[in-house]
Amino acid sequence: MGRVSIVKCPDYAYEKVESAIRQCIDLLGGINKFVQPGQKVLLKINLLSATAPEKAVTTHPNVTLALARLVQEAGGQPIVADSPGPVPYTTTGLKKAYQAAGYLGPAERGELELNWDTAVQALPCPDGKLIKLFEVIQPVVACDVVIAVPKLKTHMFTSLTGATKILFGVIPGLAKAGYHAKLQSGEQFADMLLDIIQAVKPTLYLMDGILAMEGDGPGLHGNPRPLGLLMAADNPVSMDLAACSIIGLDPMEVPMLRAAKHRGWWSGGWSDIQVVGVPLSAAAVPDFRKPARVARDARGLDRLTWYQRMWAPAVKQALTPRPVPSAGRCTACATCRNICPQQAITIAGGVALVDDRNCIRCYCCHEVCPEAAIDQKFGPTGRLIRRFGLFGYR
Ligand code: SF4
Ligand code: SF4
Repeated sequence: MGRVSIVKCPDYAYEKVESAIRQCIDLLGGINKFVQPGQKVLLKINLLSATAPEKAVTTHPNVTLALARLVQEAGGQPIVADSPGPVPYTTTGLKKAYQAAGYLGPAERGELELNWDTAVQALPCPDGKLIKLFEVIQPVVACDVVIAVPKLKTHMFTSLTGATKILFGVIPGLAKAGYHAKLQSGEQFADMLLDIIQAVKPTLYLMDGILAMEGDGPGLHGNPRPLGLLMAADNPVSMDLAACSIIGLDPMEVPMLRAAKHRGWWSGGWSDIQVVGVPLSAAAVPDFRKPARVARDARGLDRLTWYQRMWAPAVKQALTPRPVPSAGRCTACATCRNICPQQAITIAGGVALVDDRNCIRCYCCHEVCPEAAIDQKFGPTGRLIRRFGLFGYR
């Protein structure tokens, strides 16, 4: 297992952020351990959607800017890239996301280089468990080194979106929805995410937990929660285990960490984490709010006994909350309809409608809705199951 460094940083004032990031990476051996002179370095940020930094949806630009300067000090050439959400991967979409997330200003001042190339390239994954070849955004292949810069956020489908999930953003635009459609169980989806890690092989992870997200993340339904933390690690599993410990989340609720345990990437015990800097106990935030969902694969069907599984298909739609657009908040923008991998959404009478029979509970619609207009509701059967604790649900 790799080490995780944790450093406190109270806010996004640039000097404080730069100093904390330097400390964080120095605790792991310094930036020269990860970047060599002349290397092109992809800073893979979390640019989920076109949202302002204070919404805590995206990696804060000052974190990325300070990291870019460190990379330059080591002689590297940093470039910032991501493919926002499950929306079309175009320069127009990139500009909108960069602008809202605060990246255009530093780029226009010549402080940050942003990726504008929307080409897609093949990336072999010979050791992948599920996927042997990915189609990824061009900088992943063009760069010598990848540094992942995740945001610490909760996630409706995977419980946590951190170091083990951030690389899903290298899948271009709407192709993401195809993975949701094909890999509907949390276990399969998690294995695909671990395959991406094996293909991309980031050398360093820097997590932005200064303003984290709690609740029904990772989009605008989540709530910003100041944690005042930056973390660095050379191993995504160690980093997410540390994040789980800090926010009081059982790592076995995170399908990527369960899949990583099955692969032998960690033993299942907290002793696998070697923390330097601020101790986990001093960083802990026990009242951090978890996602409201009971995702069938994060906490449900994957943990059922064989005889419970026999019944599970019949009730699986009931066991998970349904996405329900709110007529009062929905603007009929059709963003959700356009990304739904099941074509389960129509717009009628000025509001989005979900066909529950086709919905696979991937929550892509919930993630991208610009109005935070999609609520999570259990149907009558689900409420009954939860009320009486059937199938282990509460
Ligand atoms: S994305 Fe949100 S606002 Fe737009 S149609 Fe769907 S529910 Fe309505
Ligand atoms: S309606 Fe929403 S949760 Fe259901 S399949 Fe479509 S995008 Fe996924």
